[in-house]
Amino acid sequence: MSRRLNSSKRKLVRAKLPAICAQCGATDELTIDHIIPRVYGGTNELHNLQTLCLGCNRLKAKAEVRHRNPQENLLKGQQLAALREAK
Ligand SMILES: [Zn+2]
Repeated sequence: MSRRLNSSKRKLVRAKLPAICAQCGATDELTIDHIIPRVYGGTNELHNLQTLCLGCNRLKAKAEVRHRNPQENLLKGQQLAALREAK
């Protein structure tokens, strides 16, 4: 599956999501944000999506990726789950 939403899905989601930033209420430069990022297993389903303006989306992305390696965190999570199952 491709990481990005295709344009028709994007339009569909736009039509269902409020045309206002969930963070600051802006109505310009809106983007669709994954509440749980795709790298953490978040889906393209509507319940995992919210409207954010470009500025808030950038701030959110910075806050979440700073000093972290998502791939590594995901791997650690899987290893921990495997350890738990082995017990
Ligand atoms: Zn905003």
